[in-house]
Amino acid sequence: MAKTSKPTFYVTTPIYYVNDVPHIGHAYTTIIADALARFHKLTGKDVFFLTGTDEHGQKIERAAAEKGLTPKALADSVVGRAQDLWKALDISYDFFVRTTMEIHEKGVQKLFQRLLDRGDIYKGEYKGWYCVSDENFLADDVALEADGCKICPDCGKKASVVSEETYFFRLSAYQDRLLALYEARPEFVRPQSRLNEVASFVRGGLKDLSITRTTVKWGIPVPGDPKHTIYVWFDALHNYVTAAGFDWNTERFEKFWPADVHLVGKDILRFHAVYWPAFLMASGLPLPRTVYGHGWWLKDDTKMSKSKGNVLDPHVLLKVFGPDPLRYFLLREIPIGQDGNFSHEGFLHRVNSDLANDFGNLVQRTLTMIGNYFGGEIPDPAPETAEDAKVRTDFEELKGRVFDLYGACALNRALEETWAYIGLVNKYLAENQPWIIAKDPALRPRLARVLLQAAAAIRGASYLVFPVMPRSVERIWGFLGEAQKPAEVLWEKLDFGGFGPGRKVGLPQALFPRVALKDFLGEEPRAAAAPAAGPEQTTKGAKDMDQITYEEFKRMDLRVARIIEAERVPGATKILKLRIDLGTEQRQMVAGIAETYAPEDLVGKKLIVIVNLKPAVIRGIESQAMLLAAITADNKALIPFFDRDIPAGAIVK
Ligand SMILES: [Zn+2]
Repeated sequence: MAKTSKPTFYVTTPIYYVNDVPHIGHAYTTIIADALARFHKLTGKDVFFLTGTDEHGQKIERAAAEKGLTPKALADSVVGRAQDLWKALDISYDFFVRTTMEIHEKGVQKLFQRLLDRGDIYKGEYKGWYCVSDENFLADDVALEADGCKICPDCGKKASVVSEETYFFRLSAYQDRLLALYEARPEFVRPQSRLNEVASFVRGGLKDLSITRTTVKWGIPVPGDPKHTIYVWFDALHNYVTAAGFDWNTERFEKFWPADVHLVGKDILRFHAVYWPAFLMASGLPLPRTVYGHGWWLKDDTKMSKSKGNVLDPHVLLKVFGPDPLRYFLLREIPIGQDGNFSHEGFLHRVNSDLANDFGNLVQRTLTMIGNYFGGEIPDPAPETAEDAKVRTDFEELKGRVFDLYGACALNRALEETWAYIGLVNKYLAENQPWIIAKDPALRPRLARVLLQAAAAIRGASYLVFPVMPRSVERIWGFLGEAQKPAEVLWEKLDFGGFGPGRKVGLPQALFPRVALKDFLGEEPRAAAAPAAGPEQTTKGAKDMDQITYEEFKRMDLRVARIIEAERVPGATKILKLRIDLGTEQRQMVAGIAETYAPEDLVGKKLIVIVNLKPAVIRGIESQAMLLAAITADNKALIPFFDRDIPAGAIVK
């Protein structure tokens, strides 16, 4: 078989810690990688897009022990959370690596042995302050606290002194070579500001790195010395070579390695920009082209983290909007290197204004007019005027600029430029008023020209955003009667004239939902769940109320529920988020009881809930049940609890 010389593109996300519940932050990195992978495919490259999970180390060993599981069984039971989210977000990865895979474990051992043989790994003793939570020794310059302990600067938890026999990696020997690398290849770390941080860290001096543990059992054993396991970072970083095929799929490995872009959060940049190239230099493997440190999505101006309780569940947004609005928002809102602040207001504004109004409306109006005026088929048009020609030439220029911007990872700028063009096309339609031209039968060719320019512009502009919104663009191309899918058309082949007269165009369907903020957030939780009505309601006699029949009452499915978890909702004073057990299933719900009950008072209690009420989204959280409560004179909600034991799920009637 002849070897192809097709160019390649290899992009990675970090491998995510398997026991984390994936949130917007994980989704962000993976969406960036997906958009880059899709763009490079359009340019004709062979693409390898890698993501996966990090499954070794002390944290998972402990989490598994608490659940009475083996670490592998715990990993197996939760790895689907990431895979399901990537599916819901249309992530087109080529390989999902798990660090518990044999191909990975063997590859890591082989490279460890290679470094040992070359003298870059040696045995010694390490004593230092260690953060169990981050599985990381603290840097020497972290100061002692008043109580004689050190606090981990990354997570704020107390570190402990660990002393053990360990294997060291001779990192100190690589200081000059790393500085020479940053000097010779400044694009190795992006953005530029991060390169400066990394270089100054290395200039400050590098110590040899302890890369094995005897205290951690759940890890890859050191070859020939199995009481040591390999430090999680040495293990994890090597996924980028093992998953590509190192030592088991040589053809693929040689084709794709070195990676073009490692996307990483700025918090793990040092591991990728210092340790990783040093490991690779030691093993004689080529270095990746770029390590791109992206910013964080903040909520209420703080980094999202499980312990802070401000983690956003992407599934809530996906359920209402589908994947593309979230993909668009995250990539449009900020440049990759900067931090962004996530708010539902900002998200809905983008969805309603950019997607529903500017873009969705343009598609909708144009296709509807082609249907109404021409039965879905544009006839031969009048020649282009200068104004018509500008719609075409502007597109051709835009296409070149957007190509460069995607190539430079400037995804927000690529979208910004495309939306500026969409604005021009909207203006072109507004100025040419096809709905007026349509009244004069003599102007049919002119009408055909205006609608043709608009349809061709829609086809072209949507192609340019395909890497970001693949599902919507495929639909738009379907409406436009395209025989090909956008993914099948190479960037260089895409031209404005690809949409010509005589094409049969279908009727458009709704593309992007328009959702009002108050509907999305829920103004206040409802009825008994939120005592929003005044106290007068509590004193209203039962006989004054509308009567319902027994049949109507029977339609309500009331059950006994046991509260498993209760927590406050950041930024909301009245509501609590609950997880309840209904015997056969668990649900989450929101209830307006925060002024009456503390979360810790509720766990384990049993109460009555309505389970067949249509779910509502309150403060961005889906509420899948409603509890019954009495409303006091000062407008507080009192829950009737059961005074003796009854199984969760029992019917109430
Ligand atoms: Zn820590």
